Amino acid sequence: MHASLLTGGLQVDAFERDFAAMVGAKHAVAVCNATAALHLAMRVLGVGAGDRVVTSPNTFLASANAAAFVGAVPDFSDIDDRFHNLDPALLEKTWQADTKAVVAVDYAGQPCNMPEIARIARARGAYVVEDACHGVGGGFRVGGKNWKLGGHSWADITTFSFHPVKTMTTGEGGMLVTDNDEWAVKARLLRSHGVTRDPADFIGLSDSPSSISDLHSSVLAERGPWYYEMQDLGYNYRITDIQCALGRSQLGRLPQFLASRREVAARYSEALADLDWVVLPALSANQACATSPEFSFTLTDLSLHLYTILIDFAALGTTRTKFMQFMAERGVGTQVLYIPVYLQPWYRRTYGYQEGKCPVAERFYSRAISLPMFAGLSDDDQHRVISALRSFI
Ligand SMILES: *Cc1c(COP(=O)(O)O)cnc(C)c1O
Repeated sequence: MHASLLTGGLQVDAFERDFAAMVGAKHAVAVCNATAALHLAMRVLGVGAGDRVVTSPNTFLASANAAAFVGAVPDFSDIDDRFHNLDPALLEKTWQADTKAVVAVDYAGQPCNMPEIARIARARGAYVVEDACHGVGGGFRVGGKNWKLGGHSWADITTFSFHPVKTMTTGEGGMLVTDNDEWAVKARLLRSHGVTRDPADFIGLSDSPSSISDLHSSVLAERGPWYYEMQDLGYNYRITDIQCALGRSQLGRLPQFLASRREVAARYSEALADLDWVVLPALSANQACATSPEFSFTLTDLSLHLYTILIDFAALGTTRTKFMQFMAERGVGTQVLYIPVYLQPWYRRTYGYQEGKCPVAERFYSRAISLPMFAGLSDDDQHRVISALRSFI
């Protein structure tokens, strides 16, 4: 079988086309995971040493690590108390001149206020990357018009993950989405060692004077059908055709996955609404976006990855560990997402970050509990989660 039937072939092209059409973007570049997509975003935008990249502390490590991969300084701006995403007002207030990009993370699938973040970043010459790993297929409204994550102009590049815990999967996989032709070409080049075999793209060998014989030089300069060029320092970030065939099938089922997750979230919100010791996720933003009143979303716009509630364990005279144990004894797995990235030992050691840097994210972390949330969670199982939770007090 020819290698291009298994990797870098027609299924990859088709998945990219289908995905770009789904979000409403010009280009989608499929890669082996979203960490690779974030890394390529940094490379394509020319982020490097001497640059700062600001992201949310309330995210998976990769959103910040991508900046470190290219020698830039990953930095963190605090989240807002309601949606747990980058707070645009704080982003603007704490802006530093060497910031080259903002990585906005749509925590749990609740979208960041992208028009506001783009306004702040672009006025200062910085790029906007949206890490939409939690929100594939989701979106928001601006001025009554619906926009999908990846399909709006307030992000320069958007990334998605197809890890099995995410809303749609290819086993492992990721996508970089952009409307910029040049960046898409560059991302594809860097995805596979910076190598091209397409004569239309050849740069050619340099014409620097050679001390060797003319005959030898002409042999070296010949570009026969064997010829290939490495034009940049790239990686092996390819995704296989097998994965992309799965991705296309998952894409067809995405609307059901999204509807199922929204139903799960709605059931939690209804069943837990009367508990005064539990803070529920907002799931709609018609009220709390004073900086950009035309920005909004409701549950029906969302692709939800997590259902995270907040409990003030100390005020209840207990601990989160005890709560999680209590739930586990009743067959319910819960998670803590996320530890503020800058509190990780490597970040403290490398950049000198300390507790107190982002107080809202730290308070969020101290209270956050993510409940079981996936498409096809049965009514019975969800009742078990709800009654276990209710019986804790
Ligand atoms: C899952 C995730 C990633 C990384 O995705 P991989 O495909 O596992 O590399 C990055 N950012 C966020 C917010 C994620 O949830």
